[in-house]
Amino acid sequence: MQTDQATPILSMEGVSKTFTNLAGHPVHALKPTTISVRPGEIVAVVGESGSGKSTLARVALGLIEPDQGRVMVYGKDRATLSAEDRKKYRAAIQPVFQDPGTSLNPRRSIKGLLAQASWGYKGDKREHALDMLRRVGLRPEAEYLDRYPHQLSGGQRQRLAIARALAMEPSVIIADEPLSGADVSIRGQILNLLLDIAQARGVSYLMITHDISIARYFADRVAVMKDGAVVEEGEAESVIENPQHPYTQKLIGSVMRIKTPETGA
Ligand code: ADP
Ligand code: MG
Repeated sequence: MQTDQATPILSMEGVSKTFTNLAGHPVHALKPTTISVRPGEIVAVVGESGSGKSTLARVALGLIEPDQGRVMVYGKDRATLSAEDRKKYRAAIQPVFQDPGTSLNPRRSIKGLLAQASWGYKGDKREHALDMLRRVGLRPEAEYLDRYPHQLSGGQRQRLAIARALAMEPSVIIADEPLSGADVSIRGQILNLLLDIAQARGVSYLMITHDISIARYFADRVAVMKDGAVVEEGEAESVIENPQHPYTQKLIGSVMRIKTPETGA
């Protein structure tokens, strides 16, 4: 999709969401938050469990409506889009979820899942499915077409989930903890696949993770979330090398201790 570099593909302006828990008390999952993703940019959202990251992702995807604020896609308010634009922009913003085991319909073959995902595609759907499988490194691709998600390993399922997102030729992928479902030993491969896709196709990411070391490896910009709010945001390098907020310092400190045991920290 054509756009100038300055207009964010996706921009959330002061979005908030309050849930009610089982005891009937309000949970301010997302306090008014502003965050945007520009063409080709990789934005990481980092924070501990419960900090509101998935709520932000669901707002970004249009799966839940924010209580306040607005979501702009290509500079237009999503709430007031025409039906046609809504369809177009829905294709442009695609999810990759944490656990592909639950987001992939188990009754559909891989061929079926990919055909369903490329509903707008005019050409040969089988060829398109093969192309998607190749792109995510599931080879020999023809052997995968008639399999079902449960016949794949966690890492292969995550590759399939990425293939399904790519089938729509998205401009931005909202990836919510995309490595959590994969074995530790293959997380690096999945991360590299996502990075290759970003570089080869100019896809932007809103990459949600509790692991700040992933943000360091992957992101251009980082937003750090705590208790439903962004407490620090900036260029990935400057946030990670020179964190200003004590919470960011704590997150980085905990990773450093794990990664460098020889310091005795
Ligand atoms: P994260 O993804 O960072 O772990 P979430 O966005 O999932 O955080 O959750 C933020 C807070 O909102 C948590 O306290 C969570 O329990 C609460 N929450 C999320 N979704 C709901 C919901 N549908 N109903 C009630 N509370 C929710
Ligand atoms: Mg989450």
